Amino acid sequence: MKAGKVYLIGAGPGDVELLTLKAVRALEISDMVLLDDLVDREVLRFTRMNAQIIPVGKRGGCKSTPQTFIQRQMITYARKGKTVARLKGGDPFVFGRGGEELEVLRAASIEVEIVPGLTSGIAAPGILNIPVTHRDYCGGVTLVTGHGRDVNWQALAHSGTTLVIYMGLKNIHAITRALICTGMNSATPAAAIQNATCADQREVVSTLAHLPQDVESADLKSPAIIVIGEVVSLTTHRQDILQRAAS
Ligand code: SAH
Repeated sequence: MKAGKVYLIGAGPGDVELLTLKAVRALEISDMVLLDDLVDREVLRFTRMNAQIIPVGKRGGCKSTPQTFIQRQMITYARKGKTVARLKGGDPFVFGRGGEELEVLRAASIEVEIVPGLTSGIAAPGILNIPVTHRDYCGGVTLVTGHGRDVNWQALAHSGTTLVIYMGLKNIHAITRALICTGMNSATPAAAIQNATCADQREVVSTLAHLPQDVESADLKSPAIIVIGEVVSLTTHRQDILQRAAS
């Protein structure tokens, strides 16, 4: 029997054209596909006619598939000699539990190949003409979760880096307050982008102080990326920041 294999694939931020050629090639040879709910169903057009498709949503607050079930499925099918595509939104190793899955598969002695994807934290600002680094504005970029409790916002307020926050919408009031209270300029340009690169993309461009209120008025929902830093002033929606800074 041929040995099975798992491809841990990043599907990019949403737009199917942002899939890599390597991801497409892995999908074309896979016997089964475990599909995250952030991944556009459009990608299924690259799978084999008889491939088995298993949706495994993990979105916060909604019905989600236990991680252990997903891991068990990958191991079971790989042990049967199948080629398994584990398709995740963005990049599999950026807040995607790809690291945990890699460890489990390795412990089970299953061959794994990583197919990196374009992470939403870089693609979402990019779509709005916001470069996450620019040497005139910042010394780098920090990718951080707005969901956990162990983020040192005080350190980030003084990091001199662009802040890109995943899963931060629910805590946006607390996050912006923490940054301002620990010394970040409240007039710093900031943006939130929902469903970046998808047909239903929506965005709000504002300042750190006004972002929570503007996100609420626009009724922005998850999944969204928050980006905070001087680089946001390069956006096509620059007018919104100037208006907010003046108000
Ligand atoms: N591995 C993914 C991140 C998974 S965590 C990546 O690299 O992009 C899930 C979070 O990612 C969401 O809560 C949201 O903050 C962000 N996200 C994923 N896709 C997005 C999109 N198309 N637009 C905006 N945010 C997105």
